[in-house]
Amino acid sequence: MSDGDVVVALDVGGTGMKCGLIRPDGAVVHAERHPTDAGRGADAVVGTILAVAEGLAGKARAEGLTPTALGIVVPGVVDEVRGVAVWSANVGFRDVPLREVAARRLGLPTALGHDVRAGGLAEARIGAGRDAGHVLFVAIGTGIAAAHVVAGSAATGAHGAAGELGHILVRPDGPACGCGRLGCLEAIASASAVARRYAELSGSTNPAGTGSGGAPRDPADAAPDGRSADGPGAGPTMVTAAEVAGRAAAGEELATRVWREAVEALADGLATAQALFDVETIVLGGGLAQAGAGLFDPLRTALRERLTFHREPRLVPAALGDEAGCLGAALLALDQLEKR
Ligand SMILES: [Zn+2]
Repeated sequence: MSDGDVVVALDVGGTGMKCGLIRPDGAVVHAERHPTDAGRGADAVVGTILAVAEGLAGKARAEGLTPTALGIVVPGVVDEVRGVAVWSANVGFRDVPLREVAARRLGLPTALGHDVRAGGLAEARIGAGRDAGHVLFVAIGTGIAAAHVVAGSAATGAHGAAGELGHILVRPDGPACGCGRLGCLEAIASASAVARRYAELSGSTNPAGTGSGGAPRDPADAAPDGRSADGPGAGPTMVTAAEVAGRAAAGEELATRVWREAVEALADGLATAQALFDVETIVLGGGLAQAGAGLFDPLRTALRERLTFHREPRLVPAALGDEAGCLGAALLALDQLEKR
């Protein structure tokens, strides 16, 4: 590695791509964003990924830098060993050998990873979990997904599908989940579930476009597994999860009830995760984590109540924001170089 070395990193989401040129020390030299336009189909999205990556490598060279590797992270089920985007609802990938295709096109060593695992990797190594050897990163947005990172490496599972914390059963007779079962964690505690539940109970749903001056929808961009069909942009304008949190903090009865249901369900999920993983630090990211003390204070208490002999983990907000996935893609690219 020399001074002018950078890696090209892309975090491909259902709505947008966060991309950059990143130095080995994690410094972002250049960042850009592009729409994914997933509705065009997987082939077109792959075409855009390649064009954007090529553009970034060209930009690096034009500035006298040397692109040394490429890292791409995508949502859904990702086989990191084979470098294949196996399945994704919101981007439409079905067994796309993206690593090989991109490596051939750019002529760079390439790593393909999973968006939430890469985000967790970045938070564990250079973000909110950097002082811990055992970290669980939980992204709570449109869905809920997690990454278990031990000694700087995120477990992928045997089939590239580890960390689906959103689909553990917490309420056997609970609401229907996007995966087809009842009572999954993300059907109750994701940012979209909180907004949906509040709208249901309050009857406050307005037809799209007639709401209060285009109030922002759910700030959560994290759609960790893409299995929730109700991403931002679809359906009527609702009170967002962040607004529900705010109303709960202000003492509104209905919001307090919905928020408590979500916090309790989340505590059940995290207690299960802690029983399985025994981590030092749980890092919460995604839209819901932006609720700050309104989330963390009651959640810490609820989690503590559920732990018996298990050690209580530190519960902290994510530090890298929505750049975590892109930084994680860069880390995967750098790891790839080290292995060579
Ligand atoms: Zn589910």
